[in-house]
Amino acid sequence: MRITLENLVRTYSDSSPGAGAIHAVNGVSLSIRPNSIFGIIGKSGAGKSTLVRIISLLEKPDSGTVFYDDERVDSLSGRALIERRRRIGMIFQNFNLFSSRTAAKNIAYPLEVSGVPAAEINARVKELLALVGLSDRADSPISKLSGGQKQRIAIARALANNPDVLFCDEATSALDPQTTRSILNLIREIQHKMNLTVVMVTHQMEVVRDACDFVAVLDNGLIAEQGTVEEIFMHPKTAVTRDFLLNLPSGGFSEETQAGSGLVRWSEEGGEYILRFIGKMTGEPVLSRLASKFNVEFNIRAGGIQHLHGQDIGTLITDLSGSKEELAKALDYLKEEGIVVEKNGEER
Ligand code: ADP
Repeated sequence: MRITLENLVRTYSDSSPGAGAIHAVNGVSLSIRPNSIFGIIGKSGAGKSTLVRIISLLEKPDSGTVFYDDERVDSLSGRALIERRRRIGMIFQNFNLFSSRTAAKNIAYPLEVSGVPAAEINARVKELLALVGLSDRADSPISKLSGGQKQRIAIARALANNPDVLFCDEATSALDPQTTRSILNLIREIQHKMNLTVVMVTHQMEVVRDACDFVAVLDNGLIAEQGTVEEIFMHPKTAVTRDFLLNLPSGGFSEETQAGSGLVRWSEEGGEYILRFIGKMTGEPVLSRLASKFNVEFNIRAGGIQHLHGQDIGTLITDLSGSKEELAKALDYLKEEGIVVEKNGEER
């Protein structure tokens, strides 16, 4: 299912004296592709929760429209809204499970509400427990499950009514890196198996890196930029995106990237140039070639490799010095080699 957002606006009034209106979502238009994982990343206060509440039909925008495929859904009400919401799956940071029910009974809940016959519920719950790898935990009370297991049960519950979209609102923010990785892998697997559209709201670029196909960066209630994850990692256009990329944590979620998937910085000073390499270029001795070809010197200040799906992207933060002419030649050479060079927040 494709989700289309047109010019969404949501303004809150601030009750504190002298404060004006809060433009939580300030004119968001977005096309979320079907059958893929779409990330919405933003810092705290950027408007993510407000936006996801609007897209998932929990809250109405002040103006603007939401389409699921060709159907306008932001104006639904009563029965039609309840029916539509039934086919929306949602998972949250704090799992929102019933602590008084067992794992199986939590998964059964949305089916009971939908009036599914008991025998069918039992079969479906079994199937869902197997899907999330917890067949042996059917009768466990929620309090006996780990965080990762709770999120698996929440995922199973979210999928019970065969939704066509799954919203993940900071779904891994409360989990450790290893558990995060296993939950993100599970979501990718399920997305593929069920042809789901997944919208993943997060403040962590590593979640975008490890799970998403596309991403939009939300800043101050507006989309700052959007693209494939690879485009955003290779050609960030705004300060807010660059900041996310420069602050990726240095242990990756994937086993093979435990060491150094964020930037390792060994000098706080310098580093006027940011070089970004893709694919096989990450293994090439580009800088030593540069120094032997041109009369320039370099001093590396930080470096790291990000493992995206199927592509590696390397980043080096470095000084480059030499005469103006030699520097210009060296930078042209880097460009010819397919390396993206950024200086003072601008791609050259
Ligand atoms: P995020 O999820 O990115 O942290 P939110 O959507 O929660 O951002 O918040 C965006 C802005 O809107 C913040 O300034 C927040 O204080 C404000 N806000 C969010 N919900 C409400 C509300 N129900 N009432 C008043 N202000 C709100």
